[in-house]
Amino acid sequence: MGYLNTFPLSYKVQGLRIVIVGGGEEALNKARLVTKTTAQVVIISPQIEADFSGLSVTLIERDFIAADLDNTALVFVAEESAAADRAKVEARARGIPLNVVDVPAECDFYTPSIVDRAPLTVAISTEGDAPVLARLVRARIEAMLSPRIGKIARLAGGLRHKVESLIHDGAARRRFYEALVTSPAIEAAEAAGQGVSAAETLLAQHADTAHANGVVWLIGAGPGSEDLLTLRAQRLLQEADVIVHDQLVPDAVVQMGRRDAEQISVGKAKGHHSFSQAQINTLIVRLAKEGKKVARLKSGDPMIFGRAGEEIAALRKAGVPYQIVPGVSAALAAAADTATPVTLRKVSSGFVMATAHGADDGDLTHWAALAQSGLTLALYMGKSIAPDVAARLIEQGASPALPIGIVVNAGRADKSTYCGTLGTLAANAVAFADGPAIIFVGEAVEAGDWADAAQLTGMSFKVA
Ligand code: SAH
Repeated sequence: MGYLNTFPLSYKVQGLRIVIVGGGEEALNKARLVTKTTAQVVIISPQIEADFSGLSVTLIERDFIAADLDNTALVFVAEESAAADRAKVEARARGIPLNVVDVPAECDFYTPSIVDRAPLTVAISTEGDAPVLARLVRARIEAMLSPRIGKIARLAGGLRHKVESLIHDGAARRRFYEALVTSPAIEAAEAAGQGVSAAETLLAQHADTAHANGVVWLIGAGPGSEDLLTLRAQRLLQEADVIVHDQLVPDAVVQMGRRDAEQISVGKAKGHHSFSQAQINTLIVRLAKEGKKVARLKSGDPMIFGRAGEEIAALRKAGVPYQIVPGVSAALAAAADTATPVTLRKVSSGFVMATAHGADDGDLTHWAALAQSGLTLALYMGKSIAPDVAARLIEQGASPALPIGIVVNAGRADKSTYCGTLGTLAANAVAFADGPAIIFVGEAVEAGDWADAAQLTGMSFKVA
């Protein structure tokens, strides 16, 4: 973590003046920014050239005089003149923070980019190092925040005393506020001018539920990049009191939860068994029964090789409410990484997600036939036994010439790819990169873009 040379804060300007010395475009830019506040904005210059119409400002068409800074919170100097220099001296003498436009060395403060959903404000600053980045970040935050979120924040503020008197438990209060600011129903009511009554109804409901009911969300975290999560997954992670996650979910994704959320790693790394499945089932049921919102975060999609079946059964049996949030499964990330259409007209009429680990001869006979008939196989949990599985598929009738492609760390920045045929895979012990892998088998693999893939030695796979 680096250190800041400036400190962001929210500075009171209500009832005070903000003085801008200058009448050109730069003064206008600052005026646009500071007229977002309730301060009286005063423009002073003998030459007011920019068009300030539409902004609520007081125009004073003369040189600056010292008395202009009476009752003033902030000063901007946006012109070069003797009068402007006097304004700088006067601001410093009075200890009023000063911004000299485009002269960082003379500034006491800088103006950040602002996302304005008053009273909610987000200020973005890069201390002048990367204005383009600040703009991009701002655009993302703008898209994230509903235009009505400010009104809803005001609703929350207006209800504070009522909430305190009706809900005594701190966690329950937080749940009410979370529901208030995230509920689409409240937003719709606010849009229809019914925000206050909707918020009060919601408050009454929360006050009624003496103690909150827990819930478990089985959430797909995707293949391991922060931006391959769904928006719903992100939102629920932010709401969760506890995050129970597998080893395969990278830290960066777990950290997307609330900062004060409890984090429990239940291991399940290959070869490590910190929690048995039965212990995990018991854990999530217990946490929910304590009234907590539990995010059970699983890699990829929770319903695919995620032991979701057992966890859902345990939750049903215990009467705990649950919800499933889908995620991008590893095979789909691997298909995207390599531009491999796993279904392809006239080539592959289907796509099978199967586990290599624990597959018996019956399974393999079946898959060999499917692959032979054109279907694409995506084999999970097969990296360490890849040559063996390839050899067994051939024994069961799959052609050694069938194309295969392997993606290690699919969907992540550090992915590695390998291509060849079933025959070359069967014949070689490959030193794969560290990390989980998907093995594709089938004719459609050839249609992918495997140009950067490491070629398994001795293979006859042609790159499309
Ligand atoms: N629910 C997960 C699968 C969990 S089983 C999903 O839908 O993706 C674990 C197996 O998933 C690993 O052995 C590996 O085969 C695969 N896997 C998980 N993440 C992966 C990734 N980023 N790249 C390649 N394979 C991955």
